[in-house]
Amino acid sequence: MENYLRELPPVHEIQRDCRFTKLCDKYQLTSERLTAYIRNVLGQIRAELQDGQVPALYPEHDFTSIIFINVEQKVAEWSRNKLSRVINGTGTVLHTNLGRARLSNQAAEYAAEVAKSYSTLEFNLSSGKRGSRHDIIEDLLKESAGAEAAMVVNNNAAAVFMILTALAKEREVIVSRGQLVEIGGSFRVSEIMEESGAYLKEIGTTNKTHLSDYENAINEETAMLMKVHTSNFRTIGFTKSVSTEELVRIGQKHNLLFYEDLGSGSLFDYGEDGIGEEPVVRQVIEAGADVVSFSGDKLLGGPQAGIIAGKKEIIDRLKKHQLARVLRVDKMTLAALEQTLKMYLTNREKEIPAIRDISRTAEEIRQDAEHFASVMRSEAASFRIGVEKSTSQVGGGTMPGVELPTFVATVTHDSFTEQELADRLRTCPKPIITRIMNEQVLIDFRTVTSEEIEEIINGFKAIEQEK
Ligand SMILES: *Cc1c(COP(=O)(O)O)cnc(C)c1O
Repeated sequence: MENYLRELPPVHEIQRDCRFTKLCDKYQLTSERLTAYIRNVLGQIRAELQDGQVPALYPEHDFTSIIFINVEQKVAEWSRNKLSRVINGTGTVLHTNLGRARLSNQAAEYAAEVAKSYSTLEFNLSSGKRGSRHDIIEDLLKESAGAEAAMVVNNNAAAVFMILTALAKEREVIVSRGQLVEIGGSFRVSEIMEESGAYLKEIGTTNKTHLSDYENAINEETAMLMKVHTSNFRTIGFTKSVSTEELVRIGQKHNLLFYEDLGSGSLFDYGEDGIGEEPVVRQVIEAGADVVSFSGDKLLGGPQAGIIAGKKEIIDRLKKHQLARVLRVDKMTLAALEQTLKMYLTNREKEIPAIRDISRTAEEIRQDAEHFASVMRSEAASFRIGVEKSTSQVGGGTMPGVELPTFVATVTHDSFTEQELADRLRTCPKPIITRIMNEQVLIDFRTVTSEEIEEIINGFKAIEQEK
């Protein structure tokens, strides 16, 4: 081992090697950074040698080459984007782990344009004076939600927190036990409530809550009746919940606020297209809710945001609260949201990717799957491809139990297990996320654009060539 250790080149010698400058140029590293990587790799190799291990690539490569190979691996890993674009072949439209809704071109391009320039974020062009960022989208939101007033915060969890803090701190909020949901493993109404300083008054049982449960729970400490959309689960069978209309009525009778956390809060009536039973924001506002909140990146199909809409007097109180400053959104979010809302108001909502993808018919998707299959059979013939009926999910904790009819391509290969194939697709330069079922890789084309079909085919071809 002593001999091996003496063979290790000193740092200054490695720095003089022509590969040092080449790596600096290739990865745009300063020589200090690259030297840090080299010291790190040298340390590792030295420790291995002292431990009695000989580096894997020895003796085919000399120590200097082994150091450069290891350093380049580490540098390449570091330089790869951590937030990377992926192709969603799962068919789940609002895939929370894959970033929920993707933006329309119009929204994404506008957000990029605003990001690169100065903007009227808080500036009024006609007066030349300071403006309010609330004004950018309030009118659009009022119109699309049918509300007197509206505002936007960072996400819907922030909206819930703010509403409870600003309107019910140190007072009681009545919620049905059947609606105390946990969403995505991190959002719990009961915990947000605790953080906000409002007191949760649970009523009813998991499956049944009656009007009288609300009536009996009301006392002088009560500030609010709250209804939470049970976004990601459904109770079926022997159930009873109290409707928005009834809650509005008791709220008014006792002079209490009624707040509905809509979760997804759809502006588009998917129900009219025969998909799910999601409440439409406008209907809940028309039914008389004082305030509602919902996400920007679920069924709405926009950027991450929490939208609050309702009575003007309440929204004014919220706008003045310190939390409005803490939870405010940035210009890129506002730009993307403005463009997304405009699409609703100009009859172009079907161009919003989330709405388009959820509304796609099985027949349209079958054509994409067949096109993929036929190209694959001629251009990447070592894969076995089939096309089968299946179902896709809406995702994002919305429309639980709704199964959208779809078609998937099934892929297998003699030299790879289905898991190996899925792993390779996931780690290729343009990552492709798939599902595995019945020992096959499944690609659901509901969430795949036509350009992405070509990218998937190229991914398979590259895997075939590696073999
Ligand atoms: C998704 C959801 C939330 C959280 O919304 P985010 O935008 O993810 O913060 C809160 N309440 C309900 C009912 C939800 O479905």
